[in-house]
Formats: sequence, structure tokens, C-alpha cells
Amino acid sequence: MGHSYFENLLRLDKTETISQRQAQTLKEHLETCAACRAQISAWEEVDRLLQSSSQVTPRLGFSTRWQEHLAQELKYREKIQLWVAISIGMGGAMMILTMLTVWVWLSLGSPLGWFLTLISNLAEMILFISALMVILGRVGEVVPAPMWIGLGLCIFIFLSVVSCMWIVSMHKIFVPRRIET
Ligand SMILES: [Zn+2]
Repeated sequence: MGHSYFENLLRLDKTETISQRQAQTLKEHLETCAACRAQISAWEEVDRLLQSSSQVTPRLGFSTRWQEHLAQELKYREKIQLWVAISIGMGGAMMILTMLTVWVWLSLGSPLGWFLTLISNLAEMILFISALMVILGRVGEVVPAPMWIGLGLCIFIFLSVVSCMWIVSMHKIFVPRRIET
């Protein structure tokens, strides 16, 4: 029997069971034929490689984990965008507030009463802003990212209007007093 016959038997032995007599002749052939033994060890090597590559299937889990990580990173970036928008809005509003209070200071010229009013108003303002930030932080988990810039602008405009109203009302409170005295 030729060499290719045993190679064929080896191949069959991999996929389906061969008869006992075939197994016996194959065993005898392997004892004398180094080429077929090498063939067997090559196949075993291939088997090992296939098995180790099938262990790569947990990569499916890895890829979903990576996607989750990506989603989390996106969420994190959205949060940063939110905070940038809020900071810009708050910063702008605070700047306007400061400028207007300086203007009121210059036009009123009664530092102590003004200062006390400013402090109480600022305290209220800070409370309001922190409450707003807590609310926004919760909304931030629901509202998509592109809305944050618009939201920041809305906050900016809103706070500007509020600070203007505050300045105007302060002016109205202080001006009659000056007339009285
Ligand atoms: Zn052989």
C-alpha cells in the first residue's frame, strides 16, 4: 500500500472513525514512516492554532466592552461640552453683572447700603445658579450633546436678563431714597 493511502487514512481519522484494521495498518505504517508522523504533528499544530484562535471568540465580548467604553467616553465628552457651555454662560452673565454693578456703584455712590444689597443678592444668585446646575446635571443624562451650546446660550441670555432686571430694580430702590434725603 502506497504512502498516499496512509495519508488518506490519516485525513479520514481526523474527520470520521476508521475501521480497526485500518487503524492497525496506519499504526504500523506510522512506526516506520517519518513523513506521516510529521504530517500528524503538522495537523496537531494546525489544531492547536485553530483552538487558540477559537479562544479569540471572547473578543466579541471585548468588542462590546470597547463599544460600551466608547459610549461612556462620548457621554463624558457631552458632559464636558455641557460644562463648557454653562461656564461660558455663567461667566458671561457674571461679567455683565459685575460691569452693571460697577456702573450702579458709580451712579449711586452709597457704598455701604449698596454693598449689603449686593451681598444678599449675590448669595441668592449663587443659590439659584447651583440649583440650576444640579437640575442641568440631571437633564444632562437625557438631552443630546448638540443642544448644550444652545442651552448654554439660553442660560447666558436668561441670566443677563435677570441681572439687568436686578440692576434696574436696585436702581429704582436706591434712586427714591436719594430724593427723600
Ligand atoms: Zn507514510
